[in-house]
Amino acid sequence: MRSTSQRKQAAAPEASGDPAVARAVEAVGRRPAGRRLLLLSDFDGTLCEFRPAPESVYLDRARRDLLDALARRPGVTVGLVSGRRLEDLRARAGLEAPVYYAGLHGLEIAGAGASFVHERVAETRGLLQVLARALDAHLSALDGVRLENKDLSVAVHTRLASPAHRAEARRIVERVVGPHLARRTFRMLPGSAVIEILPNIPWTKGHAVRWIRADVERRHGPAWPVYLGDDVTDEDAFEAIGSSGLTIVVGDRESAAAMRLSGPPAVEAWLRSLTDLPL
Ligand SMILES: [Mg+2]
Repeated sequence: MRSTSQRKQAAAPEASGDPAVARAVEAVGRRPAGRRLLLLSDFDGTLCEFRPAPESVYLDRARRDLLDALARRPGVTVGLVSGRRLEDLRARAGLEAPVYYAGLHGLEIAGAGASFVHERVAETRGLLQVLARALDAHLSALDGVRLENKDLSVAVHTRLASPAHRAEARRIVERVVGPHLARRTFRMLPGSAVIEILPNIPWTKGHAVRWIRADVERRHGPAWPVYLGDDVTDEDAFEAIGSSGLTIVVGDRESAAAMRLSGPPAVEAWLRSLTDLPL
């Protein structure tokens, strides 16, 4: 407890120095009375800085403490929404307080005693593993391109690749996966520096947000959702919330979100300021 208040004091000037942080704090302060704060966030690039290897990304301790503190407030529910597998997300967040986790863009959700797995998730696993092996054989020659096999989905990371290798990776993915896209077995989700191949189930982070909100409102009454995210795939979540809550894009990407924070450190400053609000 003592260390949390020390950190809060130490970081307060920094938090108030960013007008975007101050505006986003004020927006939460102005939320409609009697609504539970439902704080939903993407993970990579939003709560955590990107790292060359996605497997080396973990939630920073100070941010974990802030989210735990907020999640323990009686008027707050916290949820994380990610393209990662649910169990991977849970382990990397390391939160102790009960929160919602939505993995695979919401195809699997758990939290608060509730859980959800889309009924069609297991259908395509075998074929996807065949495709993953084929992709790996072709992509392993390209410097800076990494294949991440998530069992039910496959991600091709190109953040560290040269523009030429990035374009070549895209061509390889289209060649290997293309026929299955045409048959609508899989769909391709192109992110900022990652291409993700998922079972073609019409389900997005927007569906995840709606599912979690409905579950929270069933338990606690009306909620006021806030969603933070940095990637193209977070736009579905922004759309699901619209003007019924607060949407915050992280980084400089073009977005339909109502507000913007510059990066994970600004998100941390915002979370720290939220702990000063009566919630
Ligand atoms: Mg992200």
